[in-house]
Amino acid sequence: MRGENIIKNIKDKRNKNEVFNLTSTNVVIKDNIKLEIDKLKKEVEKNAKRFVNILSNNCSSANLEKFFNNFSVTEFNLEHIGEKSDVIGVYLPWNLKKQIVYLYCFSAIDHEFMHMASTDLIGNYTCIGFCITYKNFKRSIGRYFNEGYTQLMVERYLKPKNHSYRTFVVIAREIEELIGKDKMENLFFY
Ligand SMILES: [Zn+2]
Repeated sequence: MRGENIIKNIKDKRNKNEVFNLTSTNVVIKDNIKLEIDKLKKEVEKNAKRFVNILSNNCSSANLEKFFNNFSVTEFNLEHIGEKSDVIGVYLPWNLKKQIVYLYCFSAIDHEFMHMASTDLIGNYTCIGFCITYKNFKRSIGRYFNEGYTQLMVERYLKPKNHSYRTFVVIAREIEELIGKDKMENLFFY
């Protein structure tokens, strides 16, 4: 099974300390999780394995190699953000060697993983699912439609606790009904 190798690689890379570069720890974030660095590493690894497992068994279009390549160069940060902000996570795929995830709620991790599984970097362009950005978000098209579809995919397969981007999820679902689920999922991952 294709997911099994990736799960093994996640563990191998972590053991060699190559996968995770966790900068902030001991930060109490929105969902009141306070993690020590070792615990945080374990939680990220555990969730990455769960993500690969679920997607490889349930979604034939999922591009888990893409996920693993992006995951391998991603630094995870737990950050506190003002209570007024409703942002719960951010994924910044700067380049092929350095990418950053900020988690303001740990439970946003599945959504950020879904971005990683659908992101390709090609020269000055970054394709994140249905969003194309030029020079790291200097210009972008499809950004919020992609957030809606990404969240729809997370809810379909990973049953998350939080439900962000409500309006965009509704729009994404209606467009998917017109185009067809299999075709949309394929376009999202490739
Ligand atoms: Zn997002």
